[in-house]
Amino acid sequence: MAAIGILALQGGVIEHRHHLQALGLAVREVRQVADLAGLRGPILPGGESTCLGRLLRLTGLGEAIVAAWREGGLRLWGTCAGAILMAAEVEGEDPHLGLMDMAIRRNAFGSQLDSFRCHAQVPAVSAEPVPLVFIRAPQILRVGPDLRVLLSLDGYVAAVESPAGDLATVFHPELAESLAFHRHFAERCGLEVAPPTAVTATRPFLAPQTRLC
Ligand code: GLN
Repeated sequence: MAAIGILALQGGVIEHRHHLQALGLAVREVRQVADLAGLRGPILPGGESTCLGRLLRLTGLGEAIVAAWREGGLRLWGTCAGAILMAAEVEGEDPHLGLMDMAIRRNAFGSQLDSFRCHAQVPAVSAEPVPLVFIRAPQILRVGPDLRVLLSLDGYVAAVESPAGDLATVFHPELAESLAFHRHFAERCGLEVAPPTAVTATRPFLAPQTRLC
């Protein structure tokens, strides 16, 4: 079975791993260019985009991911900092991978203390409302004409998808109990997904509808 990748240089790797494994998927952590061979995905996790961007340059992974993506071999899903890595424009900064035709503003909701959680309907991804966790989330300011908006909240774009199946979410599906986004992305990567088993949490999931502060 082809493995689905998670960029494992910094940030929320293990939580993505648990969600993918709960769907019966083989997972490979990506730390060097050789790890990309034959891979589906990878997921670019949340964390700190400045740090991730620097590590992508130092390891050569940034260049290798862009090259493989341009050849059509990879689908990328960026969660939060990962979405910042994918954006063609980052307000006030140079872009990182610059693959997705969108402009993004970092830390648009304030500090860590302004993190929050809510539920929303995302019909392209699930018939049930999906729990969403926002942690120092960015805001997508502009979306290119080829991208499909999967979710907007109060006029603010929170999830977009390219026709090929690249995904950018400014929130963290890996920190919530739903597997819907991971299932959706795996299917867009052409992987067969088993009926889900329970997700083993490495830390307690947050109670619904609570603020994090
Ligand atoms: N604020 C972080 C950044 O700008 C992203 C935070 C996150 O991934 N939760 O990189």
